[in-house]
Amino acid sequence: MLSLQNQNAKDSNVLGVSEEINSEFFQSLRSLQKSSIPFLVSSGGTTSRSAADNHWIIDLRKNYQNISFDLNTKHVEIEAGVRMGDLSNFLGKHKRSFPIGLSGKTGMGYILTGGISPISRSRGLAIDQIIEIKGFWGNGKEFHISQPNTPQESNHEWKALCGAAIFLGIITKVKLKTQPLRQILTWTANLSFSELSECINQAESWPNSLSLQWIYGENIFALATGEIIDTDHEANLIDLIERLPFTSNRIINKVNNMHSLPNLSLGNNKINNLNHSEVIGLLGPAWQKNNLNVLKIIKELIDQRPNENCYIASQQLGGLTKLKNLETSFLHRDAIWKPWINGAWDANDQLQRKKTLQWMEECWTNLEFICPGVHLAQIHPHLQWHQKELSSAFKDWLPKLQEIKAIKDPQNLMPPLN
Ligand SMILES: Cc1cc2nc3c(=O)[nH]c(=O)nc-3n(C[C@H](O)[C@H](O)[C@H](O)COP(=O)(O)OP(=O)(O)OC[C@H]3O[C@@H](n4cnc5c(N)ncnc54)[C@H](O)[C@@H]3O)c2cc1C
Repeated sequence: MLSLQNQNAKDSNVLGVSEEINSEFFQSLRSLQKSSIPFLVSSGGTTSRSAADNHWIIDLRKNYQNISFDLNTKHVEIEAGVRMGDLSNFLGKHKRSFPIGLSGKTGMGYILTGGISPISRSRGLAIDQIIEIKGFWGNGKEFHISQPNTPQESNHEWKALCGAAIFLGIITKVKLKTQPLRQILTWTANLSFSELSECINQAESWPNSLSLQWIYGENIFALATGEIIDTDHEANLIDLIERLPFTSNRIINKVNNMHSLPNLSLGNNKINNLNHSEVIGLLGPAWQKNNLNVLKIIKELIDQRPNENCYIASQQLGGLTKLKNLETSFLHRDAIWKPWINGAWDANDQLQRKKTLQWMEECWTNLEFICPGVHLAQIHPHLQWHQKELSSAFKDWLPKLQEIKAIKDPQNLMPPLN
């Protein structure tokens, strides 16, 4: 059994595991593919597509662990097996930080799929920090590409790699910008339905240095985070979070880095190795006047969830429009909320799996009016909604991406873009 984070992947019967990539490896992959043997890449191993039955697995975790820091430029170079928590801890020693997400367990997939951090509202997405990318296209050719110096110099390959790389090739190394390390103010609490509505309402007029994330399942729990610039700024942030309503267990705290954030979880933690799951990430504007209406829809969906570990959660974005001139494949720069739907079922219960997948689609359909976009943090080529999620994620940019894929990965070794 592979020791992967994702339980579906962990329980799968893989054909074999390779831990090294080079051009010859791609030759053997092509011959494997001729005999219809598919493969998957695993960096952090946190998604359901890091391994699957009857697939060959490329596991980058053991042999791609290097991290190096340039003291002059403050750039960091990481190989594809480095987890975000390890990156955050490493940078902490140099008093620097990187906008990692809500979990330190995620790997290179976090960066390659966009990377929405609780500090993205002020710091940008993880892809916005990339300055060099190294790897192999699906056609086996090695590449090493740097960020264009000006928007005019920008090219389609770079844009495709920043947000859609996982469809085009295997990334072995990235060079990233880092930022000064700052303490982070955290607020966590249990909320009622109407308190959540009020928190969302208040958060929609917050400055970009503060963000709200919440999770709604058996109960409702929220986490607000704000990077502290100085003591005046800290006082402002405290003033804002003290206005948030809560039912119980409110804790205001300060942590030293992103890897020390409290978990966004329901605390019931019945999620164990007896559960499998899939996740869809949506993107959309501020809720404003739709606030109560959207929450009522979510409440109804939660009340009908087929398994107690199903939930809907959300991260707050906004502030990314200032980075609009960066050419990336993350098109939803205007998004304010990223709700994600977590569908869970008892492992190997195919009937419940079917019901859960239907429930997830129902959630998506019901929330689409307020969340028209998709964040492809998890891909689902094995499910019927794959095409819909590709077009909602990449919109008018999808045909160009498909053209690039036809050149860089003509045999579709990497996950399909149609
Ligand atoms: C607990 C938890 C918290 C999360 N919090 C956030 C968050 O705050 N913000 C956010 O944006 N996302 C978040 N995510 C989503 C997560 O970042 C994405 O699902 C991401 O794709 C996971 O990457 P991975 O390397 O850990 O997983 P993997 O399953 O190893 O990889 C994910 C996908 O990327 C592909 N891939 C991975 N590495 C490479 C590579 N080197 N070259 C080519 N393809 C590759 C794989 O084929 C796979 O399809 C969270 C996920 C979890 C489980």
